[in-house]
Amino acid sequence: MQIKTVKVGSLQTNCYIVIDDKSREAIVIDPGDEAQKIVAAIKGLKVKYIVITHGHPDHFGAIDQVKKTTGAAILMNPADAWFFKPDQEIAEGDQIKFGDIVLEVLQTPGHSEGGVCLYTPGYLFAGDTLFSTAHGRVDLPGGSMKKMLNSLKRLGALPPNTQVFPGHDESTTIALEKERGTLG
Ligand SMILES: [Zn+2]
Repeated sequence: MQIKTVKVGSLQTNCYIVIDDKSREAIVIDPGDEAQKIVAAIKGLKVKYIVITHGHPDHFGAIDQVKKTTGAAILMNPADAWFFKPDQEIAEGDQIKFGDIVLEVLQTPGHSEGGVCLYTPGYLFAGDTLFSTAHGRVDLPGGSMKKMLNSLKRLGALPPNTQVFPGHDESTTIALEKERGTLG
């Protein structure tokens, strides 16, 4: 598995491209802005899905162009899909498969009602639920501190060596964030 990070837009959102080495199948997580940068990064790959972790513009701003270029299906939890009708709805326990990779959907409300994380052993794509040294803000529409604390508790139960790829800033691990108290 290969992970490419493309930082896009004024909020420097991390758009992740997750690639299965053998089949060259891939997914794009959070095409937030600067479609041309993302399109350049997926050259030669078979993009099967575009996954939106949550319905904030800095995470989906380039969706039209990336969809047009790849023809990939857009996956999203319906609770956050106020701006768009996803091709496929995703919810707790769903599996996203491409090549030999299987990512599991964890529903992690708190930053927004329909926010999801994607997990495969060793790796967590955390959207704006968990960052390095901080959790996502809860003061936007659909946000809830109570739900955030629950979601963080869940993430804290993942194996400590899980590498976390957040929606902004640098990557971290579950162990580090436990040590820092971010996960409660
Ligand atoms: Zn957000």
